[in-house]
Amino acid sequence: MDTKKKDEGILLVVSGPSGAGKGTICSAIRSIYPNLHYSVSMTTREPRKGEVEGESYYFRTNEQFEELIKEDAFLEYARVYDHYYGTPKKYALDLINEGKSVLLEIDIQGAMQVKKRYPKGVFIYIVPPSLKILSGRLHDRGTDSEEVIQKRLSQITSELAMAHQYDYIVVNDILKDAVHKTCSILEAEKCKLSRNEGQIETIFKQYINKEV
Ligand code: 5GP
Repeated sequence: MDTKKKDEGILLVVSGPSGAGKGTICSAIRSIYPNLHYSVSMTTREPRKGEVEGESYYFRTNEQFEELIKEDAFLEYARVYDHYYGTPKKYALDLINEGKSVLLEIDIQGAMQVKKRYPKGVFIYIVPPSLKILSGRLHDRGTDSEEVIQKRLSQITSELAMAHQYDYIVVNDILKDAVHKTCSILEAEKCKLSRNEGQIETIFKQYINKEV
């Protein structure tokens, strides 16, 4: 029987108000770490221009989504801006158990559910440097109507009040710096003793047995 301890992968959870730049930061992280698996979420909102089924999201109807809720198929799910969004459970947890790391880019309600279910996750909150900059970014992006933008901006204060429940805060002022900070968090987490007990045991055994 193989008694060697297997180390779990890292579940990296990134949230932040829309317009904070978390999508851009996550894309950069994914290209720097090609072995970091991205969990594609499911949503009931309409696809935006250029979004691809199975890559951007799995686009589903309300009925299909609610059926999956009944089947307990989500690691977390939430209503965000009047639509359902959720993380398929099996994909993320199977990879973590195999020692692979997974990135979730989800809202704060979902992140708090994941924290309860999987406290070993690493929770990062991306914050824009100011409301003015955030509002400018949402307008420049040009993907949402004025009504949607105002709705998103009005929810920010209540969201910020919950940000202290995250492990790390990254202020996205200069993108390059924010990406660098996020990479540093990931690197530090990878070195945590609690995440490497299996590997450390193997290395220490070689020293104890004087294997040369
Ligand atoms: P958008 O419609 O702009 O793509 O996303 C709206 C919000 O939903 C963003 O804050 C995004 O991070 C969040 N979101 C995306 N996927 C999920 C998910 O699987 N679960 C939860 N709880 N939020 C998600």
